[in-house]
Amino acid sequence: MKWGLIGASTIAAERMIEAFRAVSGGGAVTHVLSSSPERAESYAAEHGIAHGVSDLEALLVGDIDAVYISTTNEKHFSQAMAAIAAGKHVLCEKPLAMTVADAVTMVRAAEKAGLVFATNHHLRNAGSHLAIREAVRDGRVGDVLSVRVFHAVYLPPHLQGWRLDKPEAGGGVIADIVVHDADTVRFHLGEDPVDVVAMASSAGMGKGVEDSAMSVWSMPSGAMVQTHESFTHRFARSGFQIHGTRGSIVATDVMTQGAVGEIVLTTETGAEVLPYDTHDLYWRSVGLFCDAVAGQGRPAADGVDGVKSLAVAAAVAKAAETGRRVAVDYGG
Ligand code: NDP
Repeated sequence: MKWGLIGASTIAAERMIEAFRAVSGGGAVTHVLSSSPERAESYAAEHGIAHGVSDLEALLVGDIDAVYISTTNEKHFSQAMAAIAAGKHVLCEKPLAMTVADAVTMVRAAEKAGLVFATNHHLRNAGSHLAIREAVRDGRVGDVLSVRVFHAVYLPPHLQGWRLDKPEAGGGVIADIVVHDADTVRFHLGEDPVDVVAMASSAGMGKGVEDSAMSVWSMPSGAMVQTHESFTHRFARSGFQIHGTRGSIVATDVMTQGAVGEIVLTTETGAEVLPYDTHDLYWRSVGLFCDAVAGQGRPAADGVDGVKSLAVAAAVAKAAETGRRVAVDYGG
């Protein structure tokens, strides 16, 4: 399978190019798009990509099967629509778009064209989260009472750009991290948040956007979810906890890009460390996408999953702005 990269991004350089090559071989990435011709060329040269282009049309007429969209968030919609019109399968970064309505339009367009459309929510590909989900599905925590998500991190200096000062590019911690937490909660609980309350703030890193948020979500089952996202926390450890009538899972350091962390399940019989597989999260995401293109199975997170994670983030943003409880609007 051959890929065109829409976006000469950090995430492509740090994770995804390697993943495409691991899954589909050395020649898997043939094109890269940057808005700057010089940057397109230098990025292509640095990463051994044959064609660096600055025109989306030039990329889409290339001999590629799929595109990976990792531009800033406000560009995802128009670029995905163009790729779908050109008959390319799409793996799109989160958040899918700036609005739920646009995300729904993208996903429906791909469906109508018979193309695979996926969202790059990496966390549900982690061996740790797969192990947590299996334990929940096996009834080891009983009925879920509550979930706590700790996703307050320190945005590394090399990423302290548009996320902190460009609301028009989709900056802010809610667009960046709440979407991941929403996807992960949906993945574990198998249900969609109903409504949310939230507060957001800026401790100085965010300029015109929030750099921290806390929210509470209600779930159809009655479970309560509490989440904390931030760009400003240097020393906090991430975590994901599920508390149920028969047991509690406390997973530490698992809201991250690596195959790391510890999962402890505590029940009446005591505490037990759950083992998990340490495969690369992004390789699995790409692998399942390629299988889906070949007609086998579905991507780890499909387009509807991307719409739903964005819908929860949009509700959190609105709740924080208005101070009201907001129903999540999944866009029909
Ligand atoms: P970057 O800031 O690295 O890249 C976004 C755009 O900025 C690029 O398309 C490029 O556009 C421009 N750019 C990047 N680096 C430079 C540079 N050194 N000099 C000049 N321009 C530059 O963004 P990220 O990789 O952090 O994020 C991209 C997308 O991926 C976002 O949607 C984000 O939410 C998502 N993401 C997802 C992750 C996941 O785990 N699923 C993790 C990280 C990000 P151009 O060349 O046109 O100027």
